Amino acid sequence: MARTRRAFFCGNWKLNGTIAESLALATDVRNGVASLREVDVAVAPSFTALHAVAKRLQQDGVDGPVMVAAQDCFWEEKGAFTGAVAPSQLADVGCKLVILGHSERRQLFGELDAAVNLKSRAALRAGLTPIICVGETLAERDAGETLGRIQAQLDGALADMTDAELERIVIAYEPVWAIGTGRNATPGQAQEVHRFIRTRVAMRAPAVAPKLRILYGGSVKPDNIRALMAEEDVDGGLVGGASLSAESFIRLVKEGSAS
Ligand code: PEP
Repeated sequence: MARTRRAFFCGNWKLNGTIAESLALATDVRNGVASLREVDVAVAPSFTALHAVAKRLQQDGVDGPVMVAAQDCFWEEKGAFTGAVAPSQLADVGCKLVILGHSERRQLFGELDAAVNLKSRAALRAGLTPIICVGETLAERDAGETLGRIQAQLDGALADMTDAELERIVIAYEPVWAIGTGRNATPGQAQEVHRFIRTRVAMRAPAVAPKLRILYGGSVKPDNIRALMAEEDVDGGLVGGASLSAESFIRLVKEGSAS
C-alpha cells in the first residue's frame, strides 16, 4: 500500500555528545541517507552542538538531506529568563524543528500540558515545526487510562491552535514505559493510539488530520521499525538509543522508509 504521508524519522540524541562527536555522527547520518528520496530525516543534538551541526548539514548555505531539531525551547522571545532558549534563537542557529513535551521533560522537569502548548505555539510563530510528544505511563496503561491520558495531553498541547498551525505540527506517540526500556509497543498498540490521535484531530480540523504525521517512539530499532511502519497511521519514528549510532539509525531509516 502506497504511503499517503511522507515518512519521517528524527533521532533524539538527548544529553549526549561533544561538538566533535555530534559533528561526526551528523556527517555519517547525512552521508548514509543522502540518496534516499522518499523520507524526511532530522537529528536533535544537545543545545551546545546545534549551531555546528546545522552548519555542517547545510551544503553551500542550502539545506541538506538531514534537518536539525532542538530538544526543547522556552515560550518567551527575550527577557529575564535565565537559562532559557527562545524559538527564534533556535531558528537563528539553523534549527527547523523542536521536540516538545518529551516524557523526560514532563517527568524530570515538571513540564505540564499548558507549557507544552505555550512552547508549541511560540515555536510555530518562529517558523519551527514542533514535534509534540504524548504518551501514557505503564500505570495508566494498566489502569485502562491510555486513551484518556492521550486525549488530555493532546487537547492541552493543541489548545487555541488554528487549522493552519495544526497543519504544521508533528505528533509523536511515545508510551513512557517503552522509552529506553527495550520494550516497544506492539504495532497494534501503536496503531490504536495513532488512530485515536488522528480521529481526535479530525474532530477539530477534518482537512488537516489525514495529512498529520504521527511518529511512534519507544525502543524503535532497525529490526522492529518495518512492522510498526506497516500500520496505517504510523508515519515514522522518534528514535532515542538507536539514533546514537549512525549505522543503526541509517539502517532504521532505510528499513522504515522502504516498507
Ligand atoms: C525517545 O527518547 O524519544 C525515545 C523514543 O527513546 P528510545 O528510542 O531510546 O526508547
